[in-house]
Amino acid sequence: MIIGVPKEIKNNENRVALTPAGTQELVKRGHQVFVQATAGEGSGFLDEDYVASGAQILPDIQSTYAKAEMIMKVKEPIEEEYELIKEDQLVFTYFHFAAYEDLTKAMIKNKSICLAYETVEKTDRSLPLLVPMSEVAGRMSIQEGAKYLEKPLKGRGILLGGVPGVRPAKVLILGGGVVGTNAAKMAAGMGADVTIMDVNLQRLRYLDDVMPANVNTFMSSEYNIREMLHRVDLIVGAVLIPGGKAPHLVTRDMLKEMRPGTVLVDVAVDQGGCIETCKPTTHQDPTYIIDDVVHYCVANMPGAVPYTSTLALTNATLPYAIQLAEKGWVKACQDNRELALGLNIIKGDVVYDAVAEAFDLEH
Ligand code: NAD
Repeated sequence: MIIGVPKEIKNNENRVALTPAGTQELVKRGHQVFVQATAGEGSGFLDEDYVASGAQILPDIQSTYAKAEMIMKVKEPIEEEYELIKEDQLVFTYFHFAAYEDLTKAMIKNKSICLAYETVEKTDRSLPLLVPMSEVAGRMSIQEGAKYLEKPLKGRGILLGGVPGVRPAKVLILGGGVVGTNAAKMAAGMGADVTIMDVNLQRLRYLDDVMPANVNTFMSSEYNIREMLHRVDLIVGAVLIPGGKAPHLVTRDMLKEMRPGTVLVDVAVDQGGCIETCKPTTHQDPTYIIDDVVHYCVANMPGAVPYTSTLALTNATLPYAIQLAEKGWVKACQDNRELALGLNIIKGDVVYDAVAEAFDLEH
């Protein structure tokens, strides 16, 4: 198969869909890989690294799209890319169609095959191509939280791990899924006093088993959250209701119960946030303050660490990309139900229920 890897053109997107290592895996199986010049630069991969792995470099985005049977990307195509995608071309990337009506219509119109990373699903209902970004965001939430707890950044001026003779910071993590577990590991490793809340008792039992002694579990409820507010230094929002908006677990009136300089990192901001006062921010201007409480609500946290994020994402996507390249999308999806669930639009037909329902489309 001929595979094309364009450079991402969405603002501040430095990830790339295929690494030189991934290129080598595809090339050694007899596939051709065309990479747009400088596509890997933002993640630390040079054109010569791709060439050494067997790729050919193309000068621009037009030639990369024109050449390929399968396009591998990271972010959903933006308007400039709509008309570059051809009939019958397979596009393997994050699409998030339900959030973008124009994109959905454009992909119906160009009759491409859209296989969305975010809906590839395992039999245990986990989403293997979303997990790596939750791992990155969860780990980063503590790094960022620790930073904004510093006094010059308007935090309480407390060191996460304390020092001998001085108590460590108290970290409250709302949601013990992928983001929450990764946040807890980092916070615990830095010596903080950590509490994870979840509504799933099974999950709390598991976390209680595997987490170190400085991590406690607590049932999530308004009562229990309110009870902790005046004692915590850092709160991480990591709740997910599949397919729905995040519930507001920390409400506007609760801010008054926190101490000045408390830091809130709402990782769930991309689903509306589980902190009522959260509104999306960017890496250029990540925080704002309400009632002396620092809010960090960056919607695309993994974008700040493109090297790690690219490797984490491509570790997860490559096995699927190899199946698509080896068998073609029809056979690969027949053989692997996980991949088949990634199909969202096939040659003008919307085949994924939630996308069709979002825009009242027939399928
Ligand atoms: P997950 O499904 O693995 O975990 C969510 C957890 O929330 C589950 O354990 C669930 O039981 C728990 N939960 C549900 N209701 C709750 C409640 N009322 N109180 C406490 N816990 C509750 O999801 P995840 O992969 O950890 O993702 C969490 C959020 O982070 C999602 O909104 C995801 O989109 C977001 N995310 C954001 C970024 C970013 O850059 N901002 C990056 C990756 C993921």
